[in-house]
Amino acid sequence: MRIETKCIQSGYKPENGEPRVLPIYQSTTFKYNSTEQMGRLFDLEESGYFYTRLANPTNDAVAAKIADLEGGVAAMLTSSGQAACFYSIFNICEAGDHFVCSSTVYGGTFNLFGVTMKKLGIDVTFVDPDASEEELNKAFKSNTKAMFGETIANPALVVLDIEKFAKVAHEHGVPLIVDNTFATPINCRPFEWGADIVVHSTTKYMDGHATSVGGAIVDSGNFDWEANSERYPGLTTPDESYHGVVYTERFGKSAYIMKAIATLMRDLGSIPAPQNSFLLNIGLETLALRVAKHCENAKKVAEYLSKNDKISWVSFSGLENDKYHKLAQKYLPNGSCGVISFGIKGGRENAVKFMDGLKLAAIVTHVADARTSVLHPASHTHRQMNDEELKAAGVSPDLIRFSVGIENADDIIEDIQQSLDNI
Ligand SMILES: *Cc1c(COP(=O)(O)O)cnc(C)c1O
Repeated sequence: MRIETKCIQSGYKPENGEPRVLPIYQSTTFKYNSTEQMGRLFDLEESGYFYTRLANPTNDAVAAKIADLEGGVAAMLTSSGQAACFYSIFNICEAGDHFVCSSTVYGGTFNLFGVTMKKLGIDVTFVDPDASEEELNKAFKSNTKAMFGETIANPALVVLDIEKFAKVAHEHGVPLIVDNTFATPINCRPFEWGADIVVHSTTKYMDGHATSVGGAIVDSGNFDWEANSERYPGLTTPDESYHGVVYTERFGKSAYIMKAIATLMRDLGSIPAPQNSFLLNIGLETLALRVAKHCENAKKVAEYLSKNDKISWVSFSGLENDKYHKLAQKYLPNGSCGVISFGIKGGRENAVKFMDGLKLAAIVTHVADARTSVLHPASHTHRQMNDEELKAAGVSPDLIRFSVGIENADDIIEDIQQSLDNI
């Protein structure tokens, strides 16, 4: 199936006489006739549902659709993108371990990795995503277990050279984890470029209507844990907390996701509500249509902004003179995303004036939904960062993050025009 068909058809497959639309299994638990059978489920010897924290038919169907969209072998849903990012690392790193991460990642991820995970004893080195292979190599240590980056960084809009990152990661025998939130599998499938694990904040384009916070982790099944066994004993040696199961032996290519479900979801419990997964699934059905429209509108808005003399700079990889245009042509040939960043002449003060003057575009702590929205990262999402950290994250104090919706592009441009006129 092609990607537009997968958006509609993948995941839920009703049998004869069953509901056509994915049902919401709003049930914490599932009934069995014998203690014996329930026991086999707990031992992971038989597959079946018993408790929604570990598995739920609505959540599983949506995870299967996302796995299919990314071209992966298995996926799990989480209650937020933050939980997905945390689990993706914590599944293979413990106290005393280290990983390497692009410095331009989302502010929430930057804090999670640089502050909270450090408190758990897991160390991170942030690297410039544009650095050469030799420079990236220098960040690796004997205890490095993973490498992490975003296809399109939020909000810096840096396009990741996925092949370069994958090559460096694999030379050190560690997987590359890519946050594919902004590109979505419609515009880029990181597994095709060597990434091993993909994470998502489904809160953004996948949901698309700003109704449900959620996340997902997808496994390509390509990383050879057994060949790097000394680095990943959690996957390749018996797990005493789960009856001595060896995940790579029992689950083969799905070992990483099965371990994340059997241990992290069991113990930390960041599951999505089935109701939210139902809404996410409806969003996914129109993902291909919406993403194309977001990209088309964003290109028009970016072109308009780049010709306006009140604007000091525009960052959008769809523009030919953009620093990341070449990488975007390679990794995102059909379009990047609907998010544009730009600066207004007059810095922070005029940025605030501009935003307050908008009528159609709403000031919200959100991006990537159907409605046009706008945010000033230095005073909102990234306000915990100091100037040094802001700079490393690719966020200047005048940066406005403009998320172009799927309204008529002319209405969006007229709204920007009227607000700029007042400056
Ligand atoms: C929003 C976002 C996250 C965090 O996701 P939540 O669903 O808000 O927890 C992680 N990564 C990226 C790229 C994001 O845009």
